[in-house]
Amino acid sequence: MAENFDLVVIGGGPGGYICAIRAAQLGMRVACVEKRGALGGTCLNVGCIPSKALLHASELFAHSADLAAYGVKTGKISLDLPAMMAHKDKTVSELAKGIEFLFKKNKVAYVAGAAKLTGQGQVEVRLNEGGAQVLTAPHIVIATGSAPASLPGIEIDEDKIVSSTGALALKRVPKHLVVVGGGVIGLELGSVWGRLGAKITVVEFLDHIIPGADRDVGKNFQRILKKQGMEFKLSTRVTGIEKSGNGLKVSVEPAAGGASETLEADAALIAIGRKPYTDELGLDAAGVATDRGQIVTDPHYRTNVEGVYAIGDVIAGPMLAHKAEDEGVALAELLAGKAGHVNYAVIPSVIYTAPEVAWVGKTEEQLKADGVAYKAGKFPFAANARARVAGGAEGFVKVLADAATDRVLGVHMIGPDAGNMIGEAALAMEFGASSEDIARTCHAHPTLSESLKEAALAVDNRTLNM
Ligand code: FAD
Ligand code: NAD
Repeated sequence: MAENFDLVVIGGGPGGYICAIRAAQLGMRVACVEKRGALGGTCLNVGCIPSKALLHASELFAHSADLAAYGVKTGKISLDLPAMMAHKDKTVSELAKGIEFLFKKNKVAYVAGAAKLTGQGQVEVRLNEGGAQVLTAPHIVIATGSAPASLPGIEIDEDKIVSSTGALALKRVPKHLVVVGGGVIGLELGSVWGRLGAKITVVEFLDHIIPGADRDVGKNFQRILKKQGMEFKLSTRVTGIEKSGNGLKVSVEPAAGGASETLEADAALIAIGRKPYTDELGLDAAGVATDRGQIVTDPHYRTNVEGVYAIGDVIAGPMLAHKAEDEGVALAELLAGKAGHVNYAVIPSVIYTAPEVAWVGKTEEQLKADGVAYKAGKFPFAANARARVAGGAEGFVKVLADAATDRVLGVHMIGPDAGNMIGEAALAMEFGASSEDIARTCHAHPTLSESLKEAALAVDNRTLNM
């Protein structure tokens, strides 16, 4: 017997579960199908949250060595990796249960199983507990997320050659971890294992790390990571990885061609990006159009098939949890006849290393390429009292404002707690603020956020503390 709903969401990640909750709030009868056995998607189970749990714990471990400088004497510090992993796993499972609670609270039906499109307005679910169930609804949302991209000829075994998923659950600290890809995952998880004692070599195809970030920030970030012990092989490609005894032989060569070299390692993390995940959804049979794996949608998240929509990592745009969530909300509101909308110009990006890197809006490179005249104001954390107190005085805040109108076009930060501070910049940009608006807003003293105010003052060459 088919069960009827107003909306069926496929995928219980940040895109899907938030869309389901918002639609239920707006009065729809909603089912959310998830096959992994837990809600929260990549983000909660093998992404944002477990990586941040390990980043937090490994930062505590690394900082414990500096405590004496603050007058805190401790005994010999040692690592209990199973306990660190247990803290991560406990946090993840508690949060996943929290989403189940939210589903109950909002009367969203949670269907545990793998969904497939089987006809207009119809989904068949292979239930995790066995058997199948047919769900029908006039609106079906695909929110099936993404999976790690792989390198041709290199098999990820999640033991020695790992994706981010394996790198979140290594049984021991490798002596040498080769990280393929100097992007967000490589640098976050490289930082985790580096802090716990591994030698980290990042092999990046391009001549710079974190493509997409402001180059000024990227260069500073690389310098700071190098000081922390991370090694970089830029403009370099991995041509193969061979298992040899207990270890690996990683063959690399210059991206432009040339002599190859072998790196001996105990583990390799492949972090060269992610690809949309649509396996076994029956997209071809349903006639849903894709472009290089991404489901093609219009600005209202409609696919080419009537009644089928898509959001999150499976469609175009940055693969970020908050982007997926906001699309989930916008789509639910559109389906309810409201004016759902996502402002893609103001989606913050954060790299949760120490220091953190965060930005929103345009980079200097983008503004130059677009021919936009801009003014830049920069303020170093070394001149911020709160950063000095906490020993985190590396990095800076940079505000980019339109030369003619002073409207803020981009804000870029590298420094302590930048991920939290970028929220203020995003809010300012969402309201169309000028740099003067930020500069004239009273910021509490002593806080890190005064650096944003000072960077805004610097746009007009009038910093007060530098
Ligand atoms: P997903 O979270 O991938 O969820 C999709 C869900 O659909 C999955 O649970 C999957 O099992 C399910 N599914 C797939 N097919 C079916 C089917 N046929 N039937 C039923 N269920 C199905 N982003 C950030 O913003 N901040 C971060 O700090 C951050 N850290 C990250 C760290 C790592 C290591 C990784 C890998 C990613 C990180 N991301 C981060 C990215 C973030 O996880 C994704 O952008 C986000 O999860 C995308 O949400 P989504 O709902 O589109 O898809
Ligand atoms: P990424 O796109 O951030 O970085 C991949 C890097 O690998 C790039 O620098 C690219 O030039 C390089 N690369 C590609 N092919 C290569 C090759 N053959 N050899 C060497 N280098 C190569 O991708 P990622 O780090 O895998 O992360 C995937 C996605 O997950 C990102 O889009 C990101 O949005 C999301 N994520 C976000 C966060 C966060 O928000 N803090 C954390 C983790 C992941």
